[in-house]
Amino acid sequence: MAEHLVDLGYEVWGLVRGQANPPVRHLRELRGDVRLIRGDLLDQGSLIAAVERVQPDEVYNLAAISYVPMSWQQAELTGEVTGLGVLRVLEAIRVCSGISASRSPGRGQIRFYQASTSEMFGMVRETPQTEQTPFHPRSPYGVAKVYGHFLTQNYRESYGMYAVSGIMFNHESPRRGTEFLPRKVSLGVAKIKLGYERQLRLGNLTASRDWGFAGDYVRAMQLMLAQDEPADYVIGTGVTHTVETLVDTAFSAAGLNWRDHVVTDAAFIRPAEVDRLCADPSKARDELGWEPKIGFEELVTMMVDADLQLLAAGPHASEEFADAW
Ligand code: GDP
Repeated sequence: MAEHLVDLGYEVWGLVRGQANPPVRHLRELRGDVRLIRGDLLDQGSLIAAVERVQPDEVYNLAAISYVPMSWQQAELTGEVTGLGVLRVLEAIRVCSGISASRSPGRGQIRFYQASTSEMFGMVRETPQTEQTPFHPRSPYGVAKVYGHFLTQNYRESYGMYAVSGIMFNHESPRRGTEFLPRKVSLGVAKIKLGYERQLRLGNLTASRDWGFAGDYVRAMQLMLAQDEPADYVIGTGVTHTVETLVDTAFSAAGLNWRDHVVTDAAFIRPAEVDRLCADPSKARDELGWEPKIGFEELVTMMVDADLQLLAAGPHASEEFADAW
């Protein structure tokens, strides 16, 4: 996101929490021209101070506890960060802009983007999913995101704020955290290919996801804040694949047969599963002119190639976090 906004000529500020936050090093390597400011979604005062200091035109809230299995283990924290964190960012914008029920924002108001998720559809009521599809979240993460989604809509309706949500389906890249399936698989394939490991332990192979490339999705986020009228959009490819197909595609990209290496491990089965997600992104296509450029096979191959390159430096070149939770 930061990279895309810098390319568009934005001055970008990133909110950083904690005392020593390892990802900050990556951000600095990636883009020296992103400025950093301290703050935490659990700390209202710090968010108000950040908005006062930066005086932003746009605020993108991509911060969350976003790993679904962790949200059962730390359900309250997930609610605080992923749910109430949205309230605190919206309140910081509202307070700093002097907005109240009787005083609407004028021109030049701060525009707010909330990262909503296809996990809100959960046990899906219809396929494919649109902006009108009812929610039925299946994890504390999904429930917290539904809160953030409706709160964003509520601040738009209550205060006239330009506050919108992008209902993002799974989006991946070589920078994806190693706990998420596509990166866990691409890293696992690279390790097996390079002879560092022989097995990859996974959970449910029958679930389906609409997987896209994160670089395509951040374009949609920026476009959503550049419209005349604020509105929510479903962002996805419209094509769904099973976990097994993703695994097969990744192993094939490295000239391997997944059946020789993948072991099913109950530790990675979730208390409740989201079986099948598939986006209908027609509203984004018609109103934003948005379309994904990278397809499924290209995405998976890109991730496998990137991890083969990364691990050429040795088996521990990646920072891993693939516990079962
Ligand atoms: P999510 O859709 O936001 O939960 O993204 P993930 O990438 O974590 O999971 C995608 C799908 O892969 C889910 O249906 C998981 O149950 C399934 N899956 C199967 N094995 C694994 C595994 O070992 N790790 C993860 N993260 N997901 C797995």
